[in-house]
Amino acid sequence: MSLLSYQFMQYALVAALLTGLAAPAVGTFLVQRRLSLLGDGIGHIAVTGVALGLLTGTSPTLAAVLVAIAGAVVIEVIRTYGRSGGDVALALIFYGGIAGGVLLTGLAGQGPNVLYAYLFGSITTVSGTDLLVTVILAVSVLVIALGLAPRLFAVAQDPEFARAAGLRVGFYNILVSAMAAVTVTVAMRTVGLLLVSALMVVPVATAQQLSRGFRATLAGAMVLGCIASVAGLLISAYVDVAPGATIVLLTLAGFGLTWPVGAVIRRRRRIASPFPADEVAEAYERAHAAEDHEHGPDCGHRAVPHGDHVDYLHDGHRHAPHGAHYDEH
Ligand SMILES: [Zn+2]
Ligand SMILES: [Zn+2]
Ligand SMILES: [Zn+2]
Repeated sequence: MSLLSYQFMQYALVAALLTGLAAPAVGTFLVQRRLSLLGDGIGHIAVTGVALGLLTGTSPTLAAVLVAIAGAVVIEVIRTYGRSGGDVALALIFYGGIAGGVLLTGLAGQGPNVLYAYLFGSITTVSGTDLLVTVILAVSVLVIALGLAPRLFAVAQDPEFARAAGLRVGFYNILVSAMAAVTVTVAMRTVGLLLVSALMVVPVATAQQLSRGFRATLAGAMVLGCIASVAGLLISAYVDVAPGATIVLLTLAGFGLTWPVGAVIRRRRRIASPFPADEVAEAYERAHAAEDHEHGPDCGHRAVPHGDHVDYLHDGHRHAPHGAHYDEH
């Protein structure tokens, strides 16, 4: 274990630990919003940020975080206001990010191989200043992600309803994108910009195999991400391969191992409750028969238009009458 006595190794371990916690925490909300590849797009943009840092002789980490946040906001604006060409606009940003990065690195008098450490991670590149920036950024992301988890989840789960219930959906969407941008920069040294998205998404997918609850998924993904990051970094140090690839392959191995378990759990659930939707509807029908209450415009419960029907917010849940019964969602 002599390797652990090196300072760069201790720095890298702290960075990996925080990355392993922060990336899946933010990734949980991205997966919920079906934006699994957002982190990947931001990672591409951050390449240009790193190159700008090299060109201007300032900190690549600082330049990367600023460019990544700007890119994340642009993506969010395009997503919100763009029409059918939205995915094309995103693709242009991704390619522009990589091409701009390689071009600017050349202008800075460096070969493209200088970028390698940033693209795929390198344990020897974490300096004391980098570590300080990493710790501050990662802890900020974790505090915001966990502190606002219920709101962020509500917005990710059902933006239409969250908006009607008074949450500022646009603000929270941009907040999550900005957190993704910061996380990408934090992960740059250990996982690398091209593979960071995997650490945001795969542990979440793995945790979802074993649990359907939001909190359990969030916690499980963070534990898995942490184990994969630290173990991957240690392996890469002893075998001398890029840490990013090792970390990502470990997360994929975890997903592969839990797949059969998840399949068994899903099968059990199906057998245990073949008609869950009907059971829920029945339970609410009974509940409303007991309180002798028919929801209506003046019933005192908050009415929220939702697609082709109206939901009623009631005792912390919401549901809509459908014919003779109530569906909760
Ligand atoms: Zn009512
Ligand atoms: Zn509804
Ligand atoms: Zn009710």
